[in-house]
Amino acid sequence: MDCETVNHLLPTYVDSELSHGTATEIQSHLAVCPACQEEAAFLQRLSTAMESLPRPAASGKLNRRIRKAFRIEVEETFLEGRWNFLAGYMDTIIYGLAVAGFLVGLFLGTSFFSFPNTPHTPDLIAYSDTEGMFR
Ligand SMILES: [Zn+2]
Repeated sequence: MDCETVNHLLPTYVDSELSHGTATEIQSHLAVCPACQEEAAFLQRLSTAMESLPRPAASGKLNRRIRKAFRIEVEETFLEGRWNFLAGYMDTIIYGLAVAGFLVGLFLGTSFFSFPNTPHTPDLIAYSDTEGMFR
């Protein structure tokens, strides 16, 4: 791992939010690179200083606005996820409908023309009877 990559990942490393494998790679680099070691130490001091600061309390109004914005964001993300899920299966759905339509058409075609004397085609029976009368 090079210095640029390590510097990019250091803030996340300092917050202990990297995977074990990536963190180990960074530790290996820090062991041999004084420049990145110095940067890591600085970020560690900064992180500790930030954590020691008192957290400002948000006013009730700001709190409600943040919660509302967060709720909208979560709902939009959820809906986008749903639509993406459907879009991923759209090809399958359309193909399935086409096959189902073909099978229904095949079934209807077969039942009308292959068995003209069955009870559910009275028009064809009547037609064939009248045709016989004029011969
Ligand atoms: Zn380095």
